[in-house]
Amino acid sequence: MTEKKLETSLVSAGRSHKFTQGAVNPIIQRTSSVIFDSVESKKQATKNCANGELFYGRRGTQTHFSFQKAMTELEGGAGCMLYPSGVAAISNAILSFAATGDHILLTGSTYDPTQAFCDKILSRMNITADYFDPMIGEEIAKLIKPNTKVVFLESPGSITMEVQDVPAIVRAVRRVNPDIVIMIDNTWAAGVLFKALEFGIDISIQSGTKYIIGHSDAMLGIAVANERCWAQLRENSYLMGQMADADTVYMASRGLRTLAIRLKQHEKNSIEIARWLQQRTEVAEVYHPVLPSCPGHDNFIRDFSGCNGLFSFRLKERLTSQQFTDYLDNFHHFKMAFSWGGFESLILGYQPEEIKMMRQYPIPQKTGTLFRLHIGLENVQDLIDDLAEGFNRISVD
Ligand SMILES: *Cc1c(COP(=O)(O)O)cnc(C)c1O
Repeated sequence: MTEKKLETSLVSAGRSHKFTQGAVNPIIQRTSSVIFDSVESKKQATKNCANGELFYGRRGTQTHFSFQKAMTELEGGAGCMLYPSGVAAISNAILSFAATGDHILLTGSTYDPTQAFCDKILSRMNITADYFDPMIGEEIAKLIKPNTKVVFLESPGSITMEVQDVPAIVRAVRRVNPDIVIMIDNTWAAGVLFKALEFGIDISIQSGTKYIIGHSDAMLGIAVANERCWAQLRENSYLMGQMADADTVYMASRGLRTLAIRLKQHEKNSIEIARWLQQRTEVAEVYHPVLPSCPGHDNFIRDFSGCNGLFSFRLKERLTSQQFTDYLDNFHHFKMAFSWGGFESLILGYQPEEIKMMRQYPIPQKTGTLFRLHIGLENVQDLIDDLAEGFNRISVD
């Protein structure tokens, strides 16, 4: 049989009879305690507790094992760990590998709460963090110190959307010190549009809250590790009490089945809107990875198999605070909210000084107001009309 394509894998992954017991979907198995029939079976379960055998709720149930198997297969890893949120996955993955006195390197366009975790929690343990220009490529080698333990990537970067040259970064890091653990926040790719582990990354982390759950109604963190890092990630995360509940994990399994078709529609809608924005005289640059105006566009074309509904654009002008509120407060379809990856369209606005505060490396000086859009599954023309009305609200004549 030929290797399954993504759409087929998303439908079939984690649906063996063991997990479905003859139904179409995996069972929802809610439990804290697991009952052992005998001293011998308790002994066996204890021995196998980390290998997808029922042991205790915190190690997961068949609902978890089904989804973990699916994600491990989809991302080509050795195992998958689950967390109550994306941020829990990020912080626990880093804590599973970094110890007092260590140094970690993070891309400067990493998700804001990831930076806050490093600066406020890791700093207390004397783990230092340095941030690098997301477009650094092989030059990252110069930033590696003897005590560098983790290199943390995120591509495209949050809000400013820089697509990193991951192969160059991985090559450079491995050349200096092959023991460094390389992690990526792979949320934008939903773990499937960019095959992080095939690019030599050790741990692919994502907020399942976004496209996998896909309906803005639950939160989940997911980390898939390669053989080298799996046992350490699993055992340390377990010791820190990390687990998600069976109902949420079931919703993530359910989300997988429609992920490919949802992503394709988000992609189609977002490309159409990005191209429309590009034609607008108010707009300076559109940071959508399919467009050459997005930093790292060539890396995107080379390394990704598709895109989604999340991108940003920058106006030529900095809006006054009156224009900023008039613009954002009056959309019909674009709602203002954190998060993304659901069926609905969203917008967030940032003045240049706010972007500057989120970055701990020198960023190119830009003067215009920036907006991040999540393009949902609404009719594209309705969304374009909504954005066009927005431009009318801020026009000076
Ligand atoms: C939303 C998000 C997270 C955090 O996920 P939660 O599930 O909200 O904790 C992490 N990384 C990126 C890139 C995100 O967009």
